[in-house]
Amino acid sequence: MDHSGRLRRLQAVLPEHKLDWFLVTHLPNIRYLSGFTGSAGILLINDHSATLFTDGRYRTQAREEVSSAKIVIARKSPLLAAAEFLAGTRTRTAQKLGLEPQSVTISQRDQIPTILRGKWKLISAPPLIERARMIKDREEIRRIRAAIKLGASLFQIARRKIRPGLKEVEVAAAMEFAARRSGAEGMSFSTIIAAGKRSAVVHGRASEARIPRRGFVLCDFGVILAGYCSDRTRTVHVGSPAGDARRMYQAVLEAQQAAIAQVRSGVTADSVDAAARKVLKKHGLAQYFSHSTGHGLGLEIHEAPRLASAQSQLLQPGMVITIEPGAYIPGKQGVRIEDVVVVTATGCEVLTPTDKELIIIR
Ligand code: ZN
Ligand code: ZN
Repeated sequence: MDHSGRLRRLQAVLPEHKLDWFLVTHLPNIRYLSGFTGSAGILLINDHSATLFTDGRYRTQAREEVSSAKIVIARKSPLLAAAEFLAGTRTRTAQKLGLEPQSVTISQRDQIPTILRGKWKLISAPPLIERARMIKDREEIRRIRAAIKLGASLFQIARRKIRPGLKEVEVAAAMEFAARRSGAEGMSFSTIIAAGKRSAVVHGRASEARIPRRGFVLCDFGVILAGYCSDRTRTVHVGSPAGDARRMYQAVLEAQQAAIAQVRSGVTADSVDAAARKVLKKHGLAQYFSHSTGHGLGLEIHEAPRLASAQSQLLQPGMVITIEPGAYIPGKQGVRIEDVVVVTATGCEVLTPTDKELIIIR
């Protein structure tokens, strides 16, 4: 991973955002810029230097992982050490310190000025790192592709496991066991297996509920492999589907395909969302589509951009996004179909494409 290149590009834009220093507190952002994967750290950057503050637990790990920044092993909290480091820099002019508003806590925000004193101005930094992270480089796409391939293989396990009477958690456990055995560091989120009426619960984590004789089973799952996430949803039907279930599945599939067809460099994120919604509206299901059409993914399962209404972000080559429309009729049934695609100049590539016709388990 080109950590120093990423760091250099960020350092180059600090002056135009009037930032003398940038205090990076969001761990995935620290990892993106330095490679550090520990759970305690602060990365302090100005236009010509970068220092990672961490604690004694990470002495060896930080040296192995980080080459783009200096490393300071702090005796106190990394944040206090970073603030003391800043207090020790001698400057005649007032200094602007950018903070990440999404990750700095109120107590951290209050603590910093008590150490800095004097000519410092604390400001909310724009999401410069999140913006850079939207466009994946070749190595990132390679890793995401590998995570998606492994993630996709778990669906074959779900297909074999799913049968009436089995608990949702038993299906999820079989998938998660296989994921760890195949090298996944973990799941990118709690596996969703939602059967029968529960398929209408948009985020129905696998529960103790048993799979009924007849109905949809919604499976939404992903792994983390070499730091990168995968995310996929498939909805199968146990027993023979009624006409309305078949129609609902076809409508969601048509919506997903319309959204994928809309993806290309230069279109707005909300136009992809609109393409899915238009199809569901035509089938009278628009009011049952209660979430956004997709999200970026990478080091985190949910990243920019968001594919939702009023999102004017332009899609660009190298963005990796999910396309996941759904329809959920409360107390009855729900369907979601999700793939990950990478945006290209002329369209997009579906990573690990598979057949999406309705699978019926008898
Ligand atoms: Zn998902
Ligand atoms: Zn998703």
